[in-house]
Amino acid sequence: MVYLGEGGRVPYLNKNNIVRNVEDTLEECWNGAFPVDVEAICDDLGIGILPIIDLSKTFRVDAFISADFRTIYVDSREFERDSHRYRFSVAHELGHFVLHRKYCPHVTKSLDEWFRFFRRFTNDYAEFQANYFAGNLLVPEAELVRVLNDGFDGSFVRNYWNASPSELGRILMKVRRHFRVSDDVIARRMRDAFPGVDEIDNNKKWR
Ligand SMILES: [Zn+2]
Repeated sequence: MVYLGEGGRVPYLNKNNIVRNVEDTLEECWNGAFPVDVEAICDDLGIGILPIIDLSKTFRVDAFISADFRTIYVDSREFERDSHRYRFSVAHELGHFVLHRKYCPHVTKSLDEWFRFFRRFTNDYAEFQANYFAGNLLVPEAELVRVLNDGFDGSFVRNYWNASPSELGRILMKVRRHFRVSDDVIARRMRDAFPGVDEIDNNKKWR
């Protein structure tokens, strides 16, 4: 979710632009270890994470960033489990911080006003951009290609189709553990990394 000032609008940003922003963020705030520690990145940027009981139930969102971009509120259950979903939610809000903060004038509003205000913008580019940022932050393309090539005997593209279901399962588990993201995020990032290989996502062997 994103807060935008009165009349504020998030502009179109192409994917390269978003990836560059991810790379800058990683370079500035990341220790180079996988899985990417989103909490440490928040710390580095001076952003606090505040778990809220029943946030998902009450507001029907997993997370949101405060109007001053200094606090990420997350559902307490996701926070306690430190789940894949929690990590993605924090990375998504970091996307709003990095990509959208500059388009947001400081306007103080109550939480309720803030939510009503936000709903007007849910169809904006903002959500796509924040999701794309999060996927790239948690699963950088070069590292995904490296891990997959490693798992497939040096070449993912060459050896994928001949792999047995049990081999695929084993490699998927390795990828999931390495990045600590959901299978959906892995599938999306594989489509980004290997464009035109749509069958990967539809292939039941892989899922
Ligand atoms: Zn959002």
